[in-house]
Parts: sequence; structure tokens; C-alpha cells
Amino acid sequence: MKTHEVKAYGTEAANAPLHSLNINRRELQPHDVEMDILYCGICHSDLHQIKNDFGGAMYPLVPGHEIVGRVSKVGDHVTKFKVGDLAAVGCIVDSCGKCEYCEDDLEQFCDEGVTFSFNSPDKYLGGATYGGFSETYVCNEKYVLHVPETLDLASAAPLLCAGITVYSPLKHWQAGPGKKVGILGIGGLGHLAIKIAKAMGAHVVVFTTSPSKVKDAKRLGADEAVLSTDPDQMKKYVRKMHLILDTVSAKHDVNTYLHLLKPDGSVVLVGLPPEPLEVSAFSVVSGRHSFSGSNIGGIAETQEMLDFCAKHNITADIELINIQQVNEAFSRLQKGDVHYRFVIDMASLKK
Ligand SMILES: [Zn+2]
Ligand SMILES: [Zn+2]
Repeated sequence: MKTHEVKAYGTEAANAPLHSLNINRRELQPHDVEMDILYCGICHSDLHQIKNDFGGAMYPLVPGHEIVGRVSKVGDHVTKFKVGDLAAVGCIVDSCGKCEYCEDDLEQFCDEGVTFSFNSPDKYLGGATYGGFSETYVCNEKYVLHVPETLDLASAAPLLCAGITVYSPLKHWQAGPGKKVGILGIGGLGHLAIKIAKAMGAHVVVFTTSPSKVKDAKRLGADEAVLSTDPDQMKKYVRKMHLILDTVSAKHDVNTYLHLLKPDGSVVLVGLPPEPLEVSAFSVVSGRHSFSGSNIGGIAETQEMLDFCAKHNITADIELINIQQVNEAFSRLQKGDVHYRFVIDMASLKK
């Protein structure tokens, strides 16, 4: 298959710094859209992948899966997009399209496994897919999202992964009016979860270990913010919560939060702690509690989330950086030193 070279930023080995390199993008297929990338968010899973925390990293590795851009070319059979349209790509860029899950718009559960936007086997060119730390992206239009014109494009980028990661479970577990929804942790995921759960009409209670974040939780729209290290504050929430969205990616005690649930309530994990978490029997058998998890969402739901965020004017709180600062950004992200998402201005790649 014909390809052309574009500029990108990536790395050749785990724990080696990212640097400028060239990658190949495929020539447009009849259903492909090519976009010039304007902004790309930096997600915690980019950090995990460049460090090969989950194993199986394919080098050179070009991360980035919160991609917002403008369509520069369309294939002959493309119907959803025209040149000049705003467009976005998130985590999923291909799936089988035929299994029961793909047919139900649940591509994230595809029987054959999805192709992720980076570090995933590339069905067209072999090797790995290259992510959004690059000049352009080429993708079948089925997996490309429309970005509402009213959204600020840089701060909308994190919606493509962080946004859908929290929107999907909040919707599935019916966050809404009359529901007390807990958000555990305020980071890239948690701060968007507060805004989205609030816009869905839920009563939002944030649980944080950091006193400085109590104030920030309220600014982000939380109805209540609780210092989870204070047993007296925590006691007041026992049997009060319908749902707790757990965004914490480090080891923590989920039993504490299972005890805050009303009967039939759920703690839903969307963070990715590296070690197994212990769940005691009584945390779940008492009150018919569930401990569950959720990971991203399908393409149709991602579009629904973008439209919902446009309607409620929700975007991420970001720090906009140039691509040349990306290594510093990753080391700050590792320390949790970001409020609350880094987004790269991809125009800096041309420098
Ligand atoms: Zn992500
Ligand atoms: Zn499928």
C-alpha cells in the first residue's frame, strides 16, 4: 500500500525520551478521512504505554489518542465528512464491524478486539498504529467523530478519552436527578466526571485525599467535597451513595467506598491501578453491592458525549503545551502535577 511520510514525536524504547521522527501514513482508502491534527491530549495511558507498563509495546511508539483536527482530504466514498470539517479520533480506529457488539454500537467489546489509535497492530500497513503526536491522522470515517463548532478545540481534546471514559459509566449506571453520585479522585478523569455528572442532574459528592482539592471540587461544580482521610467526615456518607465512580489509578481500599453505598449501589472502577485490589465479602454481600468497571465507550456513544458536552459547555481544564515540552509533561503527569490535563498544540510540531 502506498504511504507518505509525516512528522511525529515518539520513542524507540521504554523510558527513553520522546523525540522528533518521521512516520508513514497510508494513502487514503475510499472510506478514509485524513485530518490535520490541531490538538492532542496527554492521557495517563500514553504514559503507561511509553513505559511499557502493560507489556507488548511496539517501537517506535507514537502516543496520543485524544485527537482533534480538521479534515484535509476525504476518500471517494466518504459521506460523513468534507474537507474543512472539524473532526476527532479517540481510542478506537477499527473493529470487526460484524459481531453482535459492533452491531450494537459497543465496538469497545468487539469479539475480534478493536484496533486502538496507537500501539495496536495496524491492519493496513503492518507494524503498529501511530497516534496523535503527529501532523496528520488517517482513519476510516466510521471511527471519526464530529466536533461541535462551539467547543473550545484545545480543551475539548481530552473528551475523546477521559470524557467518554467517565460519560459511559455515568450513563450506564443512570447518574441523574435524584441520584447521589460519588466521584473518587480528582484528576484528568475525575474533574470531567464532576462536570458531566452534574450536567446529568446528579447530586455530586467528591471524595479526595488532598485538602487543596476540596476547594477545587466545589469550583468544578461538586455539591459536596469530602476529605476521605477524615473518618468523621466519611462516617456521614455511609449508606448514602447510589453510585461511586472510582477514578483512582493507584492502590487504594475500595471497601471503604463500598460501605458508602446504598443497597444495590455500585462502585465502578475506571482508573487502572497496577496491582489487584482486595474486596472483602461483606463489602459486597451486605446491601447487594456491586464492584464493577468500565473502559471507554463505543463510537456512537462518544459522539453522543461530544454533543452532550457541547450542549452543556463542558470541556477539560487544561495546560496547553508545545510538543517540545512533552517529556517534561510526562514526568509531571507521573507525579500528578497537572491541573487537570496536558494538551499539545500540534502547530508546534512544525517548528
Ligand atoms: Zn486515554
Ligand atoms: Zn466486532
